[in-house]
Amino acid sequence: MNGISLPPARIVGPMWSDDFAVLLGLKESARPNYHKPNNEVERLYRLVAYKNHNAELDEGQQDIVWARFCALYLPATVKLFLNPPTSSGDTPEMIQELKLNSAYFEVLVGIQHIPYFAKYLRSSKPTAAGGKKLTQALAERVVSLAPTWDRHLLSPEVDSRTGRPGDYFKSVIGSAVQLLSTLLTTFVKEDLATVLSAATKAELLPWLQKWSARYMREFLGEVCLRTLGILSGERGFNKGVRSMRKVFKNWDTCGIPTCEVTENLKVCGRCQTVRYCTPGHQRAHWTDPSAPHKEMCHKTDY
Ligand SMILES: [Zn+2]
Ligand SMILES: [Zn+2]
Repeated sequence: MNGISLPPARIVGPMWSDDFAVLLGLKESARPNYHKPNNEVERLYRLVAYKNHNAELDEGQQDIVWARFCALYLPATVKLFLNPPTSSGDTPEMIQELKLNSAYFEVLVGIQHIPYFAKYLRSSKPTAAGGKKLTQALAERVVSLAPTWDRHLLSPEVDSRTGRPGDYFKSVIGSAVQLLSTLLTTFVKEDLATVLSAATKAELLPWLQKWSARYMREFLGEVCLRTLGILSGERGFNKGVRSMRKVFKNWDTCGIPTCEVTENLKVCGRCQTVRYCTPGHQRAHWTDPSAPHKEMCHKTDY
């Protein structure tokens, strides 16, 4: 001991787009002493820590980080979600769970409201091909994990083997169904059957019905009810879908937060993620004090 006491190690400053890319294995770290995660569980835990750390930033700053991440790394992230890597020590149960509850899934959940995600899903370029498979893959994985996770939900005490409470699964399932509803909302104008097979839909419906009844007025119950509405295609739900599409506000209405104009919008030619009613509103948004578009405007290859 030399008598010098150091403050505890902590993450300093916000995590930037490239920090997330390094953690997901999409970019080499610039730091020579960077330790790659040993397995996908560790990657997920670290990712959650990064996200919690950035939760201290205001929403506009978080969106700037995610916009750049999406512009550069979204297609690769979707690819990894669709084909999750495994490590030699993974048990069959872990491999099964990591098909849904992975770092890649956590990122998709976190970026689903970012306009680049909607652009990616709309894109017909080969680089965005993964987006067309996402709805089916996500729904299949929810269906295949539902029996196990539902058992955890019904016995909410801490699992001695994993150290996780049953409520943990309530939030994971809630996130999965929420992401599914975002995807379905994006494709609602097209034929849903092209992104979700009738067989998978039929397997999914009973689980959504069960959870929406059991967890009424909780997040899980609410997202299940909303997703049931989208899947049923009932007329009464169209209004709800329209208001949900406001999540992608930059597309369906003028990009200026206080402007509600929806007609004759012109797209920002560089990023193609936002539309404006007038050149004046486009100029104002570029340097908007709370969320300047120049910080979020990137070219993409999708
Ligand atoms: Zn406007
Ligand atoms: Zn732009």
